[in-house]
Order: sequence, then C-alpha cells, then structure tokens
Amino acid sequence: MRAQDIILKKRYGGELSKEEIDFFIEGFTAGEIKDYQASAFAMAVCFSGMTERETSDLTAAMMNSGDTLDLSEFGALSVDKHSTGGVGDKTSLVVAPVAASLGAYVAKMSGRGLGHTGGTVDKLESIEGFSTTLSEEAFMDQVRRVGVALVGQSADLAPADKKLYAIRDVTGTVDSIPLIASSIMSKKLASGAGSIVLDVKVGSGAFMKDVESAEALARAMVRIGCNCGRNVRALITNMDVPLGRAVGNSLEVIEAVRVLKGEVRGELREICVELAANMVSMAKGLDIADARALVVESIDSGRAFGKMKEWISTQGGRTDVLDDTSLFPKAKVIYTLTSEKCGYITGVDTEKIGVASSLLGAGRMKKEDPIDYTAGIEICAQRGDYVRAGDALAVLHTSDEKLLGASCEKYLDALTFGNEKPQPEQLIYKTII
Ligand code: URA
Repeated sequence: MRAQDIILKKRYGGELSKEEIDFFIEGFTAGEIKDYQASAFAMAVCFSGMTERETSDLTAAMMNSGDTLDLSEFGALSVDKHSTGGVGDKTSLVVAPVAASLGAYVAKMSGRGLGHTGGTVDKLESIEGFSTTLSEEAFMDQVRRVGVALVGQSADLAPADKKLYAIRDVTGTVDSIPLIASSIMSKKLASGAGSIVLDVKVGSGAFMKDVESAEALARAMVRIGCNCGRNVRALITNMDVPLGRAVGNSLEVIEAVRVLKGEVRGELREICVELAANMVSMAKGLDIADARALVVESIDSGRAFGKMKEWISTQGGRTDVLDDTSLFPKAKVIYTLTSEKCGYITGVDTEKIGVASSLLGAGRMKKEDPIDYTAGIEICAQRGDYVRAGDALAVLHTSDEKLLGASCEKYLDALTFGNEKPQPEQLIYKTII
C-alpha cells in the first residue's frame, strides 16, 4: 500500500477500506507518512467527505494510536460529558459531582483553554492546591472511592489526532464534519467511558455557527460512538451568548459552586440539569424525567455540593473557598465598564467576549502563555436587557491595568444595540439519540 494511492482514491471520491485507513494513520503516527501527505489527505476528505463507516474507522485508528483508559469495570455506569467549546461554559464543574452523587462514575480527562474558549483544567487549577495530574492508579482509585476524578489529558491520548489537528489548523482543513467528529470522538473514546453526553454548541461563540451544521456534527459523533459500542447522546445547545454571567477561571468556579448551592437559577442551571439528567439516565438506564428529578433533588438537598467538596479535597484542593467563595484570590484591578449607549442589547458576538476575557489575562493566545486565574468578566447586561447610558455592562477583572483598554474595546465591539427587544432564543435546540 502507498500513501499517495490512498490520497488519490479519496481525492476522486472513493471509499477507503479499514485497512487503508489503518495503514495511513499508523504510518502517519510513526512518522513514515509525512505531514505534507497528511495535509493532502485532510484536504481530500474536506472535498470528498467520508461515509459513516470510514469516519468510524478513522476514529478507531486515531483512538488506537496511543493510550486508552480501561473503564470496563464500571460498565455503562462510567459516564463522560464533552462540550465542543464555548464561552463561560463551566458545566463540567457542576455535572461531574452531580452525576457522581447519584451513583455514576465520572473519570474525566479535560483540556486547557486556547483562544476564546476556556478549559476545565485551568478552571480547576484556580482552586489552590488542586492537582490535575494523577498517576493512572491514583486516578482509578479515586474514581472507585469518590465516583469522580478529573485530570488533564494524557500526553499520549490519540497522538495521531494531535498531529493531524496541528496540520489541519494551518492548512485550512479544520472545517469538515468527518474530520471534526473523528478528532473529538477519538479522544473521548480513548478516555474509556461507557456512556457519553456530547454538548454540541451552536452560535456566535461556537465552532458551529448554525443549527443544521451542529446537528450534522452531533449525528456523526453519536453514530461513531454507537458503532464503537458506546452509549452516546448529543444535546445541541445555544452559544449565541456566554453561558451564565461569569467568564474567566476562578469567576467561573465561583458561579459553578453557586449553581451547586442552589443560588443560581436560569439558563446555566437549566443546561446543567439537562446534561446531568442525560448522564444519569444513560448511566443508570433511567427514564429522562426520573433522572431529571434525581438531579434537581441532589442539587437542592446539597448532596451534589457535598460531592464537589469531597472531589476537590481528594485532589488536594482547598474547600474553604467553596464554602465561602469570597476567599478566592481577587484580581488587583476590578473595573466596571458602563454603556455610552441607550437601548436593548440585541446581539452579542460571544467569541469577542471570550477574546475580551483572554485579553485581561484569563486565557491563552498561544499554548505556552501563562494564565491569570483571577482575571475575567462578570456580565451585568445580557442580550435582551435594556440599558441606559451610564449603566454597567460588565465588571472586568485583571492583574494589569494596561490590559483594560483593549479588552473594553473588544467587549463594546461585541455588543449590538437596538430599539426593539429581541425575541428570546432557544436554549436547547435538540437532543440526538
Ligand atoms: N476540537 C477537536 O478536538 N477537534 C476538532 O477537529 C475540532 C475541535
């Protein structure tokens, strides 16, 4: 077999066999197939697409290119949740302890933030002492004892995807449903959970800008998971506005804690309840309405918050800051950005809000950039709110006053004002089973 024949076959719309896909991915991982051949392959897939069978085979080949975690001892009770990325998305911090409090096992590997989106690992590291690196033995032991453990992704998780994604990023080949679906699912499947809930975000702060493409991606990922013998559901949810009111690491942890204490209602709680209910329903084979009732009870009774504290303390984190969130370290500069305009906020470019938060030090533009855990934004006025000149739009937190100017400019640029109150948008568009 030769790499160039496989590329040509795909270029002319042929269907690749499992052997051809395995040959390509194994050769590429070993360095025998070169980056320029992988970029031609990715471009051929962008133009010619892949069948469901090819996409599943590509996913399996990338999953098997590195470490895989064996969670088979937990069966369907091991459950994971993955978001395709957004702004202010702190749902993992809520749903992981909720699901564990109801008897599911959450053994989770998460990523760091890059660009306009945050990462769960960075958020958790804003809790003093919390360790996101555990040996496999300690990780598994904690899952068995506590029901939840969360670490950074292993360096050798789906290395073929890591190499291919780096190439796609610089060759205009990110934007292809089979490539995105196989990339995400290769890492999720390698992480071992028997049941997986996918939160596919759609809107101005998401990768997918319209519901149709989000649904196509969601369906592709659900089919891959089912073809690989896992139980997978996808929720398509709104990312046309940031999720909740906080963006930035410790600010988001505080908001997640407040959801678990029952102090935050509204859309953030609603999405967390729905994601956790789907996790519990899949893990325990329950009807979704019964699972939802259990989730609400776990939050309202304080059981889920108790599980969060047990989880955080087992991984070395301070829990006094969870009991009293005013103990979290604060940014040196806290600045209220006010409106010069009058009217309804009719639109929010959510990606720009994510960038405005990164510009304050909360995120990374490059992988190696340091992060300021205290930096971020508290949103005061959201889409649909009426503001007058002088009203607060947002409170910006940073350690460096010089960063405020560019961030304020980006934040203001993200907002559109008008005279008519906009129609409310749907929060959850669809569930794909
Ligand atoms: N996230 C991934 O992990 N892979 C993609 O291809 C796109 C987003």
